[in-house]
Amino acid sequence: MTVECAAALLGGSTTAVAFTGAGISTESGLPDFRSSGGLWGQWDPQEVATVRALRKAPERFYAFYRTRLAALATAQPNAAHYALAQLERWSVLSALITQNVDGLHHAAGSQRVIELHGNLREASCIDCRAISAMEAITVALECGQLPLCPRCGGLLKPNIVLFEELLPEAAFAEAEDACHYTDIVLIVGSSLQVTPAAWLPEVAYERGAAVIIINDEPTAFDARAEVVLRGRAAAIVPTLVRMLESPDPQKDSSSLRRKQSPR
Ligand code: NAD
Ligand code: ZN
Repeated sequence: MTVECAAALLGGSTTAVAFTGAGISTESGLPDFRSSGGLWGQWDPQEVATVRALRKAPERFYAFYRTRLAALATAQPNAAHYALAQLERWSVLSALITQNVDGLHHAAGSQRVIELHGNLREASCIDCRAISAMEAITVALECGQLPLCPRCGGLLKPNIVLFEELLPEAAFAEAEDACHYTDIVLIVGSSLQVTPAAWLPEVAYERGAAVIIINDEPTAFDARAEVVLRGRAAAIVPTLVRMLESPDPQKDSSSLRRKQSPR
């Protein structure tokens, strides 16, 4: 199983979707959850990543998010994010489904990004659910205050899906639909342990899609993948994309070496 096999699969597909996890952003300096050195080695999720934890001990909740938001303020997309954006520009990818909340796919230029777990651009009220800009949180924290909803005075949280919360319905339905109709699902940097998000590659696989996995450690889905590429995303994804690149840089996306899929 080589990167050439993955390029051949992608080049021969009619539709492909990418499914990304925290592992695509570790090389941008953002720790994932489960690798050694990951966030859950340092923090207990029950104490910092639930609405219950926010209500019970908002200062501790925000001690955790202050660190995450600070890391995010300086994080830049890496070569893997840019390479996936290029695949979308070439119409190889029809959608990019992400579990990440860091916004780095948008920053790299991807357009159709389905954010399953929300984002850190916005804040939401845990009482009335009104959405505000993230500055409502950052400014309050800078002033040593807890961030409160301008509408009802309730506590604000980053507009991300915390443990025990439901996923945004519309985003999940859109992702499910994309997985239903795709030839290929390209999974990058996900342990595939967080459900229901991790069920989505399963949806694509059950409908006959080929699975390509890029991850630096084994996942439970490897046995069902057509191609498993073990290593760092920021090296492998751009290599894969270069293999799909037109030999003639003057031409546009129509020059991509893509065949019609028999399906
Ligand atoms: P995860 O932490 O469970 O798994 C990440 C996987 O990526 C691991 O298998 C790890 O070995 C692999 N990995 C790490 N660095 C890699 C690299 N450079 N190249 C290739 N593989 C690499 O993450 P997950 O599957 O996304 O699920 C956990 C949850 O983490 C998600 O809900 C997500 O919202 C949240 N999260 C997001 C961010 C972010 O937005 N950047 C950061 C941490 C956690
Ligand atoms: Zn409110």
